[in-house]
Amino acid sequence: MPTVVKIRKSSYRALLLKKRNELLAEVKRGPEALATNIQSPDAVEFAIKAAEQDLTARTADLRSRVLKEIDRALERVARGSYGVCEGCGEDISQARLKALPWARYCVRCQELISRN
Ligand SMILES: [Zn+2]
Repeated sequence: MPTVVKIRKSSYRALLLKKRNELLAEVKRGPEALATNIQSPDAVEFAIKAAEQDLTARTADLRSRVLKEIDRALERVARGSYGVCEGCGEDISQARLKALPWARYCVRCQELISRN
């Protein structure tokens, strides 16, 4: 196996682990951030805070989804199938993996999926 591929894969693994740690750190900070949102007597303030909390909930949802994707990507690194599109079996471009290290599909397949 060419060494270049190995180096690339381990760097993506490092990237995935770093992102994973960042997300987990944010998750830990979550409850405190919510607690500071509760004290607001004013109705307008309350509406704003409620919207913020909704946003926080959605962000948390997105975060846990990304965490799941990262875990899957790390599994693929371990299995040696990382960087291969699950749709067409072609290699996912390096640029795409740099922007989205947990990408499961190439740009073309992703477009097809989001269109349907
Ligand atoms: Zn594809």
